[in-house]
Amino acid sequence: MNYSRSSALFKQAEQVIPGGVNSPVRAFKGVGGTPIFVKEAKGAYLYDEDGNRLIDYINSWGPMILGHAYQPVVDAVVEKAKKGTSFGMPTEIETQIAELAVSMVPNIDKIRFVNSGTEACMSAVRLARGFTKKDKIIKFAGCYHGHSDSFLIQAGSGASTFGTPNSPGVTQGTAKDTLLARYNDIDNVKQLMEANKNEIACVIIEPVAGNMGCVPPKEGFLQTLRTLCDAHNILLIFDEVMTGFRLAKGGAQALYNVNADIVCFGKVIGGGLPVGAFAARNEIMNHLAPLGPVYQAGTLSGNPLAMAAGLAMLTNLNNDAEVFNRLAEKTEYLHNGIAKVLEMNNIVHTINRVGSMISVHFDKTPVVDFDTAAKGNNETFKKFFHGLLNEGIYIAPSAFETWFITDALTYKDLDDTINAINKVAKIL
Ligand code: PLP
Repeated sequence: MNYSRSSALFKQAEQVIPGGVNSPVRAFKGVGGTPIFVKEAKGAYLYDEDGNRLIDYINSWGPMILGHAYQPVVDAVVEKAKKGTSFGMPTEIETQIAELAVSMVPNIDKIRFVNSGTEACMSAVRLARGFTKKDKIIKFAGCYHGHSDSFLIQAGSGASTFGTPNSPGVTQGTAKDTLLARYNDIDNVKQLMEANKNEIACVIIEPVAGNMGCVPPKEGFLQTLRTLCDAHNILLIFDEVMTGFRLAKGGAQALYNVNADIVCFGKVIGGGLPVGAFAARNEIMNHLAPLGPVYQAGTLSGNPLAMAAGLAMLTNLNNDAEVFNRLAEKTEYLHNGIAKVLEMNNIVHTINRVGSMISVHFDKTPVVDFDTAAKGNNETFKKFFHGLLNEGIYIAPSAFETWFITDALTYKDLDDTINAINKVAKIL
């Protein structure tokens, strides 16, 4: 395939945008080469600046669950735009999407809209701290909750007690309040809770981790986490930025039948526009300004275009009783097909899947946490990525990402993908 125009555009972008991109993973650093510049997208396909068509397995990192340029979302945004793009005043549509979200998701009474998943998680933690009057938080290694300071903490010696900033600019003062736990390791969580009695405001977790590949919670893990949080008076925050409105109408809370205290949303809830949200029961949400003392605000929060896109997206998901089953079936079909061709070609691998999230790891160790995810053979992944790109299949340019399946994919697209993987497997 020819990517000459994309390469030229990237060089031009590098002159005026750091690394040529507005979000680091887009730069292909994990896989080498230069990024593809998108011209447009429709349904399951991306069309790049060189005229190539790619089957898309990233889908804007999750939001496009019903495909690109999904007509009801496009129509809603276009109609709204004609009536003004921002007012900084209340609008009826904010209540409409809030009512719908609250009706779809278990255990929430009120929801506050923000502009990104980062803002949602950052605000949720502030609310948890304000509500519990405690400072520390537990997060899990390999879970990503956006780029706010408290979350940019990685594992390392002593990190489970004090935290080590993994980005310059995050102060030690902030890092020390973030305690790190191993995903799927309940004993590790227990130890942290025992060692920091009456100091932990919340545990924040991706109920299905999607930022180290797709890593499902072990059976009973979320339930035990819930019990432990209750026993220690700690709020449980589910970061459902990826899983919300994707794994089920009610997200991971519904899928695993575990109630969180605060739930964070992003991606699907905005239908592809910049939207995040956090939600909880009244007793917690009523602590937020202007009702309560915990401050949180946004000039563009509840923006009419974003709310129109989100409302159209949620309405369509809510009205389609079969959509989540269909997505899971397509993903299972892909899983079986990939497993078959990788086995046929003797490629060592592990595939993880929950609903419409799936990841392929080039190692045979089961991937259950960040350490096991990191074992995957990155050199094999790079060849896999570029081989698939050459076949017109676009997966995330990093071994640590989940693939997001969209309902716009046909079984022919899935078969084409499996056949392409069979071809690429021969050169791995
Ligand atoms: N939480 C999770 C689970 C995410 O996957 C992401 C982004 O990928 C975020 C939070 C941050 O969302 P945003 O990129 O919209 O700020």
